[in-house]
Amino acid sequence: MGRVALVTGGTRGIGRCISETLKANGYRVAANYCGNVEAAQKFTEETGITSYRWDVSNYAECEAAVAKITQDMGPIEILVNNAGITRDATLHRMTYQMWEDVIHTNLTSCFNLARLMIESMRERGFGRIVNIGSINGQAGQYGQVNYAAAKSGIHGFTKALAQEGAAKNITVNAIAPGYVDTDMVRSVPPAVLEKIIAKIPVGRLGRADDIARGVMFLIADNADFVTGSTISINGGQHMY
Ligand code: NDP
Repeated sequence: MGRVALVTGGTRGIGRCISETLKANGYRVAANYCGNVEAAQKFTEETGITSYRWDVSNYAECEAAVAKITQDMGPIEILVNNAGITRDATLHRMTYQMWEDVIHTNLTSCFNLARLMIESMRERGFGRIVNIGSINGQAGQYGQVNYAAAKSGIHGFTKALAQEGAAKNITVNAIAPGYVDTDMVRSVPPAVLEKIIAKIPVGRLGRADDIARGVMFLIADNADFVTGSTISINGGQHMY
């Protein structure tokens, strides 16, 4: 039987594609979502992948969900921290709530789930954690102080935890996508999007499967020498 993988925010957008790609490659997938029940039901009908509803920013809900998935499917050996939101505004218009929502959903969630799984991974001597960061966590972005801080935090979290997991065959890596064609990016005004695409050397937005392929590479059993890295998948928009 394939290893059990949890994909947060796994019912829509990039996460959905990751869930489907993992399933197609023999993993047993649990997909998390938060509020969009209709999308999750459609996803489960179309893919046969079970979806679990909870808020990844809430530690107690994460704890209950990890216990439930483990009971249903067995120990989770692969964690893809993909759930994320934006609440954009320049700092002088950003409320504390917008800051807190983004930091907790995008960054604290990585702590919550990794913390709840790390002991089991250490005991088993196997774990693969992939955190979805962002080009905007690497380069910053006007109007996204909260999002850039959370995503930048993910990159630091990844490197620190990679050092802790290395001796136990637990790899921890990040992917920093550029602009990918999902609901999140479709909410960007068309005129702004046009300017963004003009800055992407390959001349197009990313596709969710560009990111899913990166996840597949990082979670392979024989990818144990790749840890603490951030793979930029951004069409050449930001290189460093
Ligand atoms: P979408 O908005 O299309 O999907 C977001 C997913 O996250 C949904 O499944 C949503 O659930 C889930 N989610 C949101 N908040 C929570 C929460 N509190 N608890 C549990 N699940 C939650 O996003 P994308 O697919 O575009 O983005 C996926 C990841 O990639 C994010 O981390 C994003 O920051 C990152 N990224 C995206 C880029 C892009 O261009 N699209 C670029 C760089 C990074 P529900 O359906 O219930 O709302």
